[in-house]
Amino acid sequence: MMKIDNLPEIFTVAVPVLEKLEQAGFEAYFVGGSVRDLLLKRQIHDIDIATSAYPEEVKELFSRSIDTGIKHGTVTVLYHGQSYEITTFRTESGYQDYRRPDHVTFVQNLSEDLKRRDFTINALAMNRHGEVIDLFDGLGDLHKCLIKAVGNPEQRFNEDALRMMRAVRFMSQLKFQLEPQTEQAIADHHQLLSQISIERIRDEFVKLGTGKSSAEAFRIFLDTNLSEEVPGFAGHKELLKIYSSLEFNPSNEQSFWAIIIILLKLQDDQIKQFMRAWKNSNAMTAMVEQIVALFDIISQRPPTDFELFEAGQDILFSTIDVARILGQPINSEILVDRYLALPIKTSAELAVDGRFLIKTGIEPGPRLGQLLTEIKKMVVAGKLENSEEAVKEYLAG
Ligand code: ATP
Ligand code: MG
Repeated sequence: MMKIDNLPEIFTVAVPVLEKLEQAGFEAYFVGGSVRDLLLKRQIHDIDIATSAYPEEVKELFSRSIDTGIKHGTVTVLYHGQSYEITTFRTESGYQDYRRPDHVTFVQNLSEDLKRRDFTINALAMNRHGEVIDLFDGLGDLHKCLIKAVGNPEQRFNEDALRMMRAVRFMSQLKFQLEPQTEQAIADHHQLLSQISIERIRDEFVKLGTGKSSAEAFRIFLDTNLSEEVPGFAGHKELLKIYSSLEFNPSNEQSFWAIIIILLKLQDDQIKQFMRAWKNSNAMTAMVEQIVALFDIISQRPPTDFELFEAGQDILFSTIDVARILGQPINSEILVDRYLALPIKTSAELAVDGRFLIKTGIEPGPRLGQLLTEIKKMVVAGKLENSEEAVKEYLAG
């Protein structure tokens, strides 16, 4: 049995939680992503614990807990300032609609619980001594950098079609390959993805897009035809294929969406519809629209100072990211220098506002808004000093 000798602090501070459960006569293990990420030396963000104790029994042992998903056996326990998701060993049965289990059945042993997990590398457990329990050769697959379904992949994707998206998402995040039978099962059952809510698909897709091997994962996403089941992609493989040859990964979600939209050659008025179909927030949609618009400009000509100002730093940086990834030749240093040299960089930095203009005797109304924009443009262009006095003088003259 493999044993990890020097557990990182994030685990050692959680060991007393396992001890407490064990002292009460239950079994308890670290499970899932945290064990995988520990072995991969990746950053660990949250610690999941699986136990033979029922949720009510867990709650009795810890003074502070939250009923996170008590129906599914999960209780969040707060212990010494950290929070842990503690889930009762369970299996899932039913899967009538390819989405969520009809009901969960609590079981008494760890192995039943590990069996229901999606991939071998996610089905590892570790006890409080650092000993790794590996029933499906997850360690072997970690070593071989493989995403492989636990058990029969066809059956597993029929139970829960989201797992197909999770497979390509982990490929991207971990820079892993898909085990051939797992890949074949996705190709054979890609249509099942249409049963899954867009929000859940989107969350996985964004993780794919911002992972460190997104081009390769995207290639499999296309090859298996998963792409035919998501909003706006069906029938556009030829355009989207370019993504699989990109050398760099988007550094954030908004860059990822902008690249997809540019590859799909969506017109300005189609972007909102596309983003909405993916159930993206209005804030995300607005950012992506701005990035695509600035990208269109800088692909043709140098932007004006006011265009740089209106974009703002975050949009500019994301647009530069997009241009670099798409191989669009632009001089990003000059753009950044120009932006940084602007007299004001956000509207908030303007020395005057609507209230100030009213105080100087301007009537409230549309004219006031126009005047404010005019002042802003002049300040950005360096033609008017950014001060109340200078604006007053300008209005008087
Ligand atoms: P991340 O680092 O993104 O959180 P993770 O592996 O922890 O990755 P989670 O979605 O947090 O992923 O799920 C925790 C664990 O629960 C997984 O490692 C896996 O064992 C199991 N799991 C999650 N979703 C599924 C699913 N759809 N089918 C089967 N098992 C799943
Ligand atoms: Mg997790």
